[in-house]
Amino acid sequence: MDKKGLLVVVSGPAGVGKGTLCKAYMKKFDDMKLSVSTTTRKPRDGERDGVEYNFTTKENFEKMIANDEMLEYVNVFDNYYGTSKAWVKEQIDNGQDIILEIDIVGAMNVRKIYKNAVLIFILPPSFEVLENRIRTRNQDSDEQIKKRLDRMLEEVTIMKDYDYFVVNDKLDDALNLIRSIIDSERYSVQRY
Ligand code: 5GP
Repeated sequence: MDKKGLLVVVSGPAGVGKGTLCKAYMKKFDDMKLSVSTTTRKPRDGERDGVEYNFTTKENFEKMIANDEMLEYVNVFDNYYGTSKAWVKEQIDNGQDIILEIDIVGAMNVRKIYKNAVLIFILPPSFEVLENRIRTRNQDSDEQIKKRLDRMLEEVTIMKDYDYFVVNDKLDDALNLIRSIIDSERYSVQRY
């Protein structure tokens, strides 16, 4: 069967550890390729050009946009981040499964183009604890409860557009969960 590669998108709130998860996944399972985004932000300590990101200038990025080279891109805090259209197409067409670690806006834009993309949302462990607490405990003031519920609602609203969520509590558990999701999707009848 001439099967296309699986396109997996991983997103989640800042600091949830999605970058670490993706890297650890590659190391442990070695059955996916991780997309290297292009960005105009400055490299942080230890980041290498072509590994964590392809670092470029604003002028160059805007040229790439004009040339329609980006599958999707965003501008966050005056920095561009984008995914190469040609790279994604080449991998998928060759049957290579790939992971894009990108933000929510990017994820929704990818889904518009690749309807079969599998969207995974990473959550911090405190989310469940919080949910439980809010439901069963009555010690918070009304205002506090409202704030917490609002925050949860915000996250749930975003999450509903995703296919799966993974709570990143213990790294190895989260990795195995992502692996199970990917494996099920590989054998999904819908993909053939
Ligand atoms: P950071 O600057 O911390 O590396 O990344 C900031 C945010 O940009 C993260 O939420 C990350 O997922 C997102 N991001 C990284 N690369 C891309 C990309 O190519 N496209 C989009 N839409 N978001 C990206």
